[in-house]
Amino acid sequence: MELSLLCAMIFAFCAALVITAYDLGFTRLYTSINQYGLWYLGVSFITLLILQDTYFYFMHRLFHHPLLFKKLHYGHHRSKVPTPWTSFAFDPVEAFIQALFFVCIVFILPLHYIPLITALIVMTVWAVFNHIGFELFPPSFYSNSLGKFFIGSKHHLIHHRKYNLHYGLYFTFWDKLLGTEDGDYDNQMYSTVKYSILGEKLLIKNRRDAESAEEIVRER
Ligand SMILES: [Zn+2]
Ligand SMILES: [Zn+2]
Repeated sequence: MELSLLCAMIFAFCAALVITAYDLGFTRLYTSINQYGLWYLGVSFITLLILQDTYFYFMHRLFHHPLLFKKLHYGHHRSKVPTPWTSFAFDPVEAFIQALFFVCIVFILPLHYIPLITALIVMTVWAVFNHIGFELFPPSFYSNSLGKFFIGSKHHLIHHRKYNLHYGLYFTFWDKLLGTEDGDYDNQMYSTVKYSILGEKLLIKNRRDAESAEEIVRER
């Protein structure tokens, strides 16, 4: 919890940096929708999420390098069973590097404040759902041809169990492309074994997961 509070302070500091740069006219933030048109709001929002996911994936992999893990990323993996607090429990340097994405992107990509603020809200909600044991969408969504490209609680839980798999934030593209997705993940999509985590229900798909689920419950 202390890490989450520290993290909130670092994010607030970065927000102050962005606001100051905006006031000085250095950023590419804009306030009139007409400047790039309505369609650009949607395009810039999706672009922002894809770019952030890409940045997150590669930074996350870097943080798992043995030389960096203990110093920069162990804070996020301290609790074996993720909780909502885990969502924003990052070591200070990692928190700053993650926030740096938004500090930098406002100088590069023209952004209206609506997609920017929406992306920050989506990031917060998504991160919480990735750690809460509840899926944001119904389980059937994650097995359809579009849904399998979205990361949910189950997908990220595997990262907290296995460390060297599932590094993404929103999308599974990079994990699929670079071979860091659990080979059994797709086959696990339909199973019906349920277990309780933090009092919530999460669908688990095969025996191996069921065993690790029992382990989680035993550890609690
Ligand atoms: Zn996590
Ligand atoms: Zn990690």
